[in-house]
Amino acid sequence: MNDKSIGLDLNDVVAALKQVLPTDQEAVPLHEPLFGGREWEYVKDCLDTGWVSSAGPYVSRFEEDLARFTGLKRAVAVVNGTAALHTALLLAGVKAEDEVLVPTLTFVATVNAVRYCQAVPRFVDADERTLGVDPVKLRRELAEIARFTPEGTVNSRTGRRIKALIVMHTFGHPADLDPLRDLCAEFDLDLIEDAAESLGSYYQGVHTGHWGKLAVLSFNGNKTITTGGGGAILTDDEDLANRAKHLTATAKQPHPWAYRHDEVGYNYRLPNLNAALGCAQLERLPELLAMKRALAGRYAKIFSGWPGLAFVSEPEFARSNYWLNALLLDENSGSQRDLLLELTHQAGILTRPAWDLMHTLPMFEPFPHGDLSTAEDLARRLVNIPSSPVLGQAISGRV
Ligand SMILES: *Cc1c(COP(=O)(O)O)cnc(C)c1O
Repeated sequence: MNDKSIGLDLNDVVAALKQVLPTDQEAVPLHEPLFGGREWEYVKDCLDTGWVSSAGPYVSRFEEDLARFTGLKRAVAVVNGTAALHTALLLAGVKAEDEVLVPTLTFVATVNAVRYCQAVPRFVDADERTLGVDPVKLRRELAEIARFTPEGTVNSRTGRRIKALIVMHTFGHPADLDPLRDLCAEFDLDLIEDAAESLGSYYQGVHTGHWGKLAVLSFNGNKTITTGGGGAILTDDEDLANRAKHLTATAKQPHPWAYRHDEVGYNYRLPNLNAALGCAQLERLPELLAMKRALAGRYAKIFSGWPGLAFVSEPEFARSNYWLNALLLDENSGSQRDLLLELTHQAGILTRPAWDLMHTLPMFEPFPHGDLSTAEDLARRLVNIPSSPVLGQAISGRV
């Protein structure tokens, strides 16, 4: 009996997942990379030519390929997504004691980067439809606390300047970018897109990363494409891109032999070896996105109308990369989340709950926030399910 008031039959859910996923392996990971293009060739080329470190032709090629794919003027490759976020905040002029608005429903890197600048995170709530920052709720909060001064927007409760908003495209689903951009214009905030999860995701037909002053990508091993570890800063602003390049390359002045550094820079360069992997992965990105979409389609179909839970689909204004697929248990089934995690793991299906919310972590607990009830509610009911591109390929092979 599948009665909503009684709740969910978890064994049925596990059986449905088994129908979508391969049965011939001991455990199905949450997300694993897929190689099989020219990765070997390009990495071998680095070894053969000796260009393995921070100089070499693959870095600029990767940057150009990224700019072309996303449609932004410039991409600056760096060592990981966290370094990209740190650099983006520095370039936006975030200073110690500034407040930066950040979602509480995000990966820890978003908030760590704020703290690297000695700025103060102010946590904001999520929108159930997008899992991203809720623009309506944030506007209401800012209308209450914001005071306009010649130095910028100030939080009238803390006296600190509110400098920027970071939005994050959760699991690849774009946040509602138009109203968020309008809100940043209205309150004089810099918008930064943490697009670490949304390479290949589009908002109203345009790739994510175009709404912020700066955006960042990650190429960690579990992301849509990987360079082993890596990240990038995206921007349409040539000056900011040049500043990003300088700051992340130890702030060394270009010169044939002199070694002169003109500010405290960072060694955040992406090695050529990793960029080579990135070039090969990027060539396959359209194919990887198609596989991920096939997998999401299969999940959406099998869980359509399912009593007690829903498959998380892209918002109507967006085309998502479906980086990480998710099931959302109904309000009255939320208590069964941990049991679902337990049963799926027993069945070799490596599911995972949402991240612990940022405002609950010990190092961020002292920082300010308003009502976060939607994020709290979502985090309590959400389960990520296997999302590797290869799983979509298996489906195309079977159907
Ligand atoms: C992956 C990720 C990052 C960056 O991670 P790195 O591992 O440093 O590349 C940042 N923000 C979010 C939301 C992420 O998912």
